[in-house]
Amino acid sequence: MSPAITVRNLVKSYGDHHAVKGIDLDVEEGEILAFLGPNGAGKTTTIEILEGFRPRTGGEVTVLGEDPETAPLEWRERIGIVLQESEPVPELTALEAVTMQSAYYSNARNPAEVLDIVGLTDSANQRTRKLSGGQKRRLDLALALIGNPALVFLDEPTTGFDPSARRESWDMIERLRELGSTVLLTTHYMDEAEQLSDRIVVIADGRIVARGTADELARKVNAVTQITWRPRPDDPKPPERMGWTEDAQGRAVIASNDVVVNLHALTSWATEMSVDLPELNVARPTLEDVYLQLTATSEVSA
Ligand code: ATP
Repeated sequence: MSPAITVRNLVKSYGDHHAVKGIDLDVEEGEILAFLGPNGAGKTTTIEILEGFRPRTGGEVTVLGEDPETAPLEWRERIGIVLQESEPVPELTALEAVTMQSAYYSNARNPAEVLDIVGLTDSANQRTRKLSGGQKRRLDLALALIGNPALVFLDEPTTGFDPSARRESWDMIERLRELGSTVLLTTHYMDEAEQLSDRIVVIADGRIVARGTADELARKVNAVTQITWRPRPDDPKPPERMGWTEDAQGRAVIASNDVVVNLHALTSWATEMSVDLPELNVARPTLEDVYLQLTATSEVSA
């Protein structure tokens, strides 16, 4: 695999405000990378530099083999961009909108096929002004895909969606993987990043604070699995060597990464003592827990 995006020591300042402070980034061909960070961290700035819409202050950037600042027009044809908000021409049908867009590309996909990819076949002849919010986002993706792009930028693709529309969008994004597209995804939903991405890069205050798979990030912050249960007042106490503590909600907690060993010790003890461990639960750290830790401290470096 060759890199679709290579960024070295990228710097962007707005006057004396340093929004991006020397970041490195690699996105491999065919990979779905989630680019995460709190509001104002520098995501949009970075992405718009990669898309060729903003000049950089310093550093080197290569996207699909070209510097976005000097790339020829044909380069833009190989990139699909799905923005957070967009308004298609209201009088056109979905199929007409996609067909019209296809005229701009020399290597366009078949419009009906693209509507199928995004699940809009049934609404192909619907005027775009009559499409629901979720359907409009599908059309946005169709418009981005019509040029058969090698690289797709997805900016918060499911913000404002209801849970079932989100799941459908996820299926749609998974299809991009099957089509071999490279995807750079920004989102504030950690479950979305975990579900869709091969790798995650976290930016905070203009610097990359972590990168890797969700599991690698969890290890980075030493996030541990929690075994919890709610002891009854008369239950015997488990032995101290099990390393349990009591939390503010009155639950017993064993925080550990040796889950099988600890669970075995706990359930063996419980069987012996005829204790039934009410509300027994094993919770792996979520990406959200890990992300909050990563963005709260700047001690962890990528
Ligand atoms: P969000 O999640 O809110 O979209 P972000 O990570 O995309 O945030 P950016 O929009 O890249 O963040 O902004 C990074 C910093 O640069 C912020 O402090 C922002 O106020 C500042 N900034 C962004 N665009 C400009 C601009 N055109 N002029 C001056 N400052 C800007």
